[in-house]
Amino acid sequence: MTATMIGLVKAERKPGAVLKEVPVPAYGPDEVLVRVKASSICGTDVHIYKWDDWAARTVVTPNVFGHEFAGIVEAVGDRVTNVKVGDHVSGEGHVVCGVCKSCRTGNAHVCPHTRSFGITLPGCFGEYAVLRASNVIQNDPKLPFEIACLQDPLGNAVQTVLAGDIVGKSVAVVGVGPIGLMAIAVAKACGSGTIIAVDINPYRLEMAKTMGADVIVNSKEVNSVQAIREATNGEGAEVVLEMSGHPDAIRDALKAAAQAGRVSLLGIPSKEVAFDLAEDVIFKGLQLVGITGRRMYDTWYQLKGLLERGRIDLTPIITHRLTLDRYEEAFDLMSSGNCGKIVFIHQ
Ligand SMILES: [Zn+2]
Ligand SMILES: [Zn+2]
Repeated sequence: MTATMIGLVKAERKPGAVLKEVPVPAYGPDEVLVRVKASSICGTDVHIYKWDDWAARTVVTPNVFGHEFAGIVEAVGDRVTNVKVGDHVSGEGHVVCGVCKSCRTGNAHVCPHTRSFGITLPGCFGEYAVLRASNVIQNDPKLPFEIACLQDPLGNAVQTVLAGDIVGKSVAVVGVGPIGLMAIAVAKACGSGTIIAVDINPYRLEMAKTMGADVIVNSKEVNSVQAIREATNGEGAEVVLEMSGHPDAIRDALKAAAQAGRVSLLGIPSKEVAFDLAEDVIFKGLQLVGITGRRMYDTWYQLKGLLERGRIDLTPIITHRLTLDRYEEAFDLMSSGNCGKIVFIHQ
């Protein structure tokens, strides 16, 4: 008889999800079985829940979804040597091939053969999850589970902020959802100059202030390009972190960047975006950096150093702690935008 567990399953290729009894996932010789203690909802999970075009193209069903987690190792495969039962762990969700040119040259985060935990592979919105041992991240047992599960999005924020110089530089964060909020904390901890937060949601702009933004700009009410220039002696922001993926915001991000500035692009637009390449990029000497996932594993070591030494505090970003059976409420909240990070506390 196979053991069973309760998991939040993307069962059908249409909007919604269902909490149901499923088999505890089987683990192979190079894999680890983790008892999940906390997980958090990512924007990606909202796409999966709502079942948009990206989800329909990408997601494998039926599967337990969710990819941000922290837990305790329950069992390990025969060949596993880097983790043991009882260890506190999280995981890098991108399962890469390890042998392609990207993987072998320190660019595994853009491995073209990537499979993704909780998206194309079973994930963590259940009592147990299975992950390849080489993807497992050891956590300090003193790190609370609800904070440890946020390391995956924190890694996105860290890579976005640290994709170029940051010390003393003016920074505009465009889109202050959870990753934007984390980016504010990271930029501040790493010694940036003025931090400007841009969003259309007053709730999130308030949170941005709590996380350390010096100036907040509601781009629904004012011209954000102008507001960013005003906050930077007319120069524009030396570093712009584009977290929204919205075409207008992307165009404004390029316009609001200072001469020879850097724009880190994390937000994912749903279709092609038109912008003035000549005026807003080439003649300004801008540097555009595409950000995906976390550098493996440089970003993880950087975020560990920041988190475990208390250089950043993610506690204010968690606005809701719910049990998995309240998933409908959780996804409604995520869609409203009136929340920071929602964490599922597992039994
Ligand atoms: Zn995520
Ligand atoms: Zn590869």
